Amino acid sequence: MPLLTQGELANLNSTMESRTPLELMVWAKTIFGQRAAVLSSMQQAGCMVCHMAAVNRIEMPVLFVDTGVLFPETLATRDRLIGEYGLKVITLSPRLTMEQQTAQLGVLYLTPDGQSQCCEMRKTDPLMSIAGQYDALVASLRRGDGERRRKVPILAVDPKMNCLRVNILANVTDQELYDYLEKHKVITNPLHAQGYSTIGCVRCTTPVLSDEPKRAGRWRHLGPWAMYCGINPTDLDGGTEQAIDLPADLIDQILGRKVDFAI
Ligand code: SF4
Repeated sequence: MPLLTQGELANLNSTMESRTPLELMVWAKTIFGQRAAVLSSMQQAGCMVCHMAAVNRIEMPVLFVDTGVLFPETLATRDRLIGEYGLKVITLSPRLTMEQQTAQLGVLYLTPDGQSQCCEMRKTDPLMSIAGQYDALVASLRRGDGERRRKVPILAVDPKMNCLRVNILANVTDQELYDYLEKHKVITNPLHAQGYSTIGCVRCTTPVLSDEPKRAGRWRHLGPWAMYCGINPTDLDGGTEQAIDLPADLIDQILGRKVDFAI
């Protein structure tokens, strides 16, 4: 099949900058139909995306990776989104329980190399297990989160999943996010109100002080060299430098070379 590179998306990405998150979500649904899904870890931005899909009746399954060591509050947030917004959430789990993994490999998350292995087994691999089922994942990465996300593009190739990431909130500011959550009384993880600016596994997440970077509470025990789990290709060096392999017709539709409907 033909390849779509990140470079080929450059022009389209610049035109996407003026679209609203809802317009971007509708674009993804229009182009990819049943082959589009939302990817959410049920943090604030992910909850905004889930709410937007629900209230606008944009039917997309929501993929959620449960590492087996998430906070009960995170699982409760997922369950509220299912119950109150009627979302179809597909929960993806690691092959081994944390107990089985620890018995086989020891406590991995206490060293940088172990963290990388543990995140791969408990976060990336469960998502990879459905590679090929979706051509687009609507995600909630934002430039306002800083650090490696400072320049995240709206459209990014994901070579591992062989799909397009559609970061519909890429240019949404912190204030715009908070305003949306407040205005629509969106269900969010109650841990945010307890000082957790971002939320991952119980073992590797702490609250942050008001003058710390948002991600200071992730892998705090490892220092600043292990800041990302690797599930998002744009967080990794060279993660989007390759290409994805999609049908020619679909690539034409993505790039706007073949438009037989209004989008
Ligand atoms: S965040 Fe920690 S416990 Fe969770 S998968 Fe990564 S290393 Fe393992």
